[in-house]
Amino acid sequence: MTANLLDFDLEGLAAFCETLGEKRFRATQLYRWIHQRGASGFDQMTDLAKSLRAKLQGAARIEGLQVLTQQESSDGTIKWLFDVGQGNAVEAVFIPEDDRGTLCVSSQAGCAVGCRFCSTGHQGFARNLTTGEIIAQLWFAEHFLRKHLGQDPDKPERVISNVVMMGMGEPLQNYSALVPALRTMLDDHAYGLSRRRVTVSTSGVVPMMDRLGEDCPVALAVSLHAPTDPLRDMLVPLNRKYPLAELLDACNRYLAHAPRDFITFEYCMLDGVNDQPEHARALIDLVRHHGGRGVSCKINLIPFNPFPESGLRRSPQAQVLAFARLLGDAGLVTTVRKTRGDDIDAACGQLAGDVRDRTRVEERIARQREEGVRVPVPALPSSSAASTASVASVSSASGVRPGVRT
Ligand code: SAH
Ligand code: SF4
Repeated sequence: MTANLLDFDLEGLAAFCETLGEKRFRATQLYRWIHQRGASGFDQMTDLAKSLRAKLQGAARIEGLQVLTQQESSDGTIKWLFDVGQGNAVEAVFIPEDDRGTLCVSSQAGCAVGCRFCSTGHQGFARNLTTGEIIAQLWFAEHFLRKHLGQDPDKPERVISNVVMMGMGEPLQNYSALVPALRTMLDDHAYGLSRRRVTVSTSGVVPMMDRLGEDCPVALAVSLHAPTDPLRDMLVPLNRKYPLAELLDACNRYLAHAPRDFITFEYCMLDGVNDQPEHARALIDLVRHHGGRGVSCKINLIPFNPFPESGLRRSPQAQVLAFARLLGDAGLVTTVRKTRGDDIDAACGQLAGDVRDRTRVEERIARQREEGVRVPVPALPSSSAASTASVASVSSASGVRPGVRT
């Protein structure tokens, strides 16, 4: 089995080159070809000696993920569903804004944390993604978008400026695969994103928050969702292992390393569950006074995206705004997450539509194979990249439920 070079950060690639008897600087050249130019074959790496290219052909490959569907919202949001084998699929979502382009990336197929309000959690855990599968989402999206926007391959401009690990899965429960993927996002020879523009979102895996602070301190978002332990135990089962006091202590430890001077607390607004004035007051008290000095933070209120099995309802807009006002009046910087990609079911943190039911994904893959509806990806910079990714359908008629997503 050849090595998939998407699995390596620059250090890993250098070590791999050494096993081939090649100098470490070759790794930098290779890394730039892959991540900066989107190369998926060795033939196009014309500044590498033919002998090295031949060696690489025998020992390595650059293998992305197969695209099952691509959907584009009227607001420009694009969602890709990637096949990760055995009936599992993960999604990535590109969200364009005036001053930035954000990619929401998945870290696992399914999730073992099992939050009450999360459809990924309801689906259960299938498996961890590899480093290659995590970075392949960015690799594919960045180079697809450059081509899509008609960029000259010799004068590329970065399209994705921000990455949020807010797709499927709990990134800190897939730590060893996550960190090399983050390093590639940050590396100037690859995507060169600043630490402030790469955000890991976690439900609160305390020991791994500490390790991330040491190993690769990027911006941190913590999914809080409740201001008291009994309520959070119910919504985020991991709270029973790492209760609020421990979680907030870990946030303060993280702040010593963090590229920003605040933690973002995410708070999913659930009608009648955590959206009452007393919850706002308890939240203010918690983040203001925990451990005597509180936690430097911003609060991001997320309107709940309902799905039938949850038995929960989205808070009415007036309730969300009243909650936000209470926090704001207490001096907490509070934002309400905007709704994007409603028409294509593109919520980060939510496994949408068909993917929720793995059997249906399997059926769909089988159907596509039978029908032979795959067409090459519209445009990738390298000639051979199309063989590693294909688009099956680009329409909302593919069975994905319409719904309001943030
Ligand atoms: N596992 C990580 C990251 C993925 S979830 C985490 O939990 O932080 C990304 C965000 O989407 C989290 O804040 C999560 O709580 C939120 N989320 C999950 N399901 C949601 C839903 N149905 N509606 C709104 N937000 C949701
Ligand atoms: Fe997992 Fe995050 Fe969903 Fe909770 S909210 S089940 S941690 S993906």
